[in-house]
Amino acid sequence: MCAVERSYTCEQMYAKMKKLARQYPQFIHLEVIGTSHDRREIIALTMGNPRKVLFCTAGVHGRESINPIILIHIMEEYAQAYREKQPVQGQPYTVYELLREYGICFVPLVNPDGYEIASRGFRRVRNLKLRQHLRIQTIPASEWKMNARGVDINRNFPCYSYRPQNPGDSPASENETKALIHLFHSCDSVGYVDFHSRGKVIYYYRNAMSGDYNRYSHRLAKYLQSLSDYELGEAAEEFYTPYSGGNSVNYYSEVLKQPALTVETVEESASFPLHTRYLRETYEEIHYIPLGILSQITAAAEELL
Ligand SMILES: [Zn+2]
Repeated sequence: MCAVERSYTCEQMYAKMKKLARQYPQFIHLEVIGTSHDRREIIALTMGNPRKVLFCTAGVHGRESINPIILIHIMEEYAQAYREKQPVQGQPYTVYELLREYGICFVPLVNPDGYEIASRGFRRVRNLKLRQHLRIQTIPASEWKMNARGVDINRNFPCYSYRPQNPGDSPASENETKALIHLFHSCDSVGYVDFHSRGKVIYYYRNAMSGDYNRYSHRLAKYLQSLSDYELGEAAEEFYTPYSGGNSVNYYSEVLKQPALTVETVEESASFPLHTRYLRETYEEIHYIPLGILSQITAAAEELL
């Protein structure tokens, strides 16, 4: 069912996303939501109803190279099911029904420059000034998490837990951060899932948020656990340290007040570059997650009626 078995370059992923939008023009809308510092497009694809969406992002960290192409394959799977008005294989979700009411807005590759650096080396940075600046880095390219300016996007969001990582840092300084913030405010949304790769864990607890908020998020996380078999993150792990705040999920939860979960794929001991064998395994673990969380959010909304 899933043909995701090899790694992709940025260009190949862009081509796949654009092809999907061409194949399903009634149902998938492509938008370039920003441009990275090394002039690569940041693309969002919205499936279904664009007025009320679930956001799903991946590729915030360059070296976490398998989630972006997996999200693209998930879109492909959902799009086929939608067109055929069939449930997604093995699950009861009727994509067509769900996505008439809600949309899923995917940003599979938030940090394309970081992805290029991690998968093909610092020479892939086209801007001479940026490339020269990166030469003094001691981190190997294959371990690279940051963007082309050496900033960790997931420490750059303005929120309660934001802390500068280096002198001169300021929140929302990066193009990639600004693009996501702008997107978050561009339509109504019901939740957010950010995919990373560090240990098959679902983090749901948001320290800055209320008990009711966290109980609801916990319920959603439990459901996603039943789909993926991933661990649930301990609430205590969400308490920020000077080096862990400023995540996109913090910003989204504090400003939009809707559930914001982090799904970490791939075993904790995995080394970088991530082996392509993780592609199929991870796809099987997470491909129900976007629809699954949406089905739970729908059910919760109906309970309130
Ligand atoms: Zn990450």
